[in-house]
Amino acid sequence: MNPFSRRTVLSLGAAGGAAMTAFGARAATFGNPDQPPEGAINSNAASLREPGPKNAALDAQFPDVQSPPPTDIGDMPQFWSSFNIMPKRIQGGGWARQVTQADFAISEAVSGVNMRLGPGGIRELHWHLAAEWAIVTNGACRVTVLDPDGHASVQDVGVGDLWYFPAGYPHSLQGLGEDGCEFVIVFDEGRQSEYNTLLVTDWIAHTPPAILAENFGVPENTFKSIPLNDLWIFQGKEPGPLAQDQAAVASGGAPENPFTFSLGATKPIVRNKSGTLRLADSRTFKVSTTIAAAIETIEPGGVREMHWHPNADEWQYWIKGEGRMTVFDAGPRSKTADFKAGDVGYVKRSQGHFVKNTGTGDLQFLAVFKTPIYQEISLSDWLSHTPPALVAQHLNMRVEDVMKFVNTRPGIVPG
Ligand code: MN
Ligand code: MN
Repeated sequence: MNPFSRRTVLSLGAAGGAAMTAFGARAATFGNPDQPPEGAINSNAASLREPGPKNAALDAQFPDVQSPPPTDIGDMPQFWSSFNIMPKRIQGGGWARQVTQADFAISEAVSGVNMRLGPGGIRELHWHLAAEWAIVTNGACRVTVLDPDGHASVQDVGVGDLWYFPAGYPHSLQGLGEDGCEFVIVFDEGRQSEYNTLLVTDWIAHTPPAILAENFGVPENTFKSIPLNDLWIFQGKEPGPLAQDQAAVASGGAPENPFTFSLGATKPIVRNKSGTLRLADSRTFKVSTTIAAAIETIEPGGVREMHWHPNADEWQYWIKGEGRMTVFDAGPRSKTADFKAGDVGYVKRSQGHFVKNTGTGDLQFLAVFKTPIYQEISLSDWLSHTPPALVAQHLNMRVEDVMKFVNTRPGIVPG
């Protein structure tokens, strides 16, 4: 039978009309604010069925996409992505994958790369247009960089450590020890790709041999065995002692500020029974003039309080655990998404948001901002530092109840 026969359409119309009347009565109640009402509580079992086709595995990953809370409303660009769905470029010595604005339209300010270098694996000497900020998530890595004044730096970094290379500064990375390293890079430009970097091997191979000889002051045949294709990532030999590498590059003098920083060793800016926040921006990690970052750890059930950032978009890398983030914008718009380890989130500047730990263990994520100075506005801080009678009139509540609002900028609150 034609599913859109006149009779079917008529009967659907009748049923739909009855449903609107029956369920419309629930609209505009506390926790269910909208007209027409949205959310499963405003529907019925037959309407909620999803006969398919469908992908059950994906459905299970995103319960709040399958059935958004009735407080969600409106359209909003996708703010969930994940390294887990991005193809790896695997080569001898390691691999990398990335989430750039090409795949994640909202990610305008920054792009992200997840890279692994096995023991001795080398990300070849290169540079690029964007500045590079990174955090080590596993193992240990040796980083080299040169600044425009000829100051060279060689440092070893481990879990919780950062590096920052200003735009155009040439650098390299190498996995150390028995297990090499894994890390996440954030470029301060959404379109920057790890594929689009200026590689030392490419330039050398594409320069006339006579020029190479003149430039480096050695005979042409010194270069006779250079690779004709670039290396990008390749298997190298374990480097010598750090002090030996540092001594080898010391003749140009030391850089003014270190290019590496131990975020994991900093004193948290928030520490309470619900979690911790650690921060690194240009006030502490001085070389990092375009990127500020926080590591946020939330205990089970805890909530990263309702807040926004007035000066920058927030890019997130979810390190462990699972949680749920809701983002608010003018419109009104409000959208909720579920996140797990390896996922990437994004919140535009000044959009309100909160994160709930929905798992059984600690939730930890990295929040990165393209700004020299971290800034945050807490909703409860604002409403508890506005004349109480003014707030009471907005929210139609008693002044004495407004005066009980949390007024300490807790950062993370208990569930
Ligand atoms: Mn780089
Ligand atoms: Mn935030």
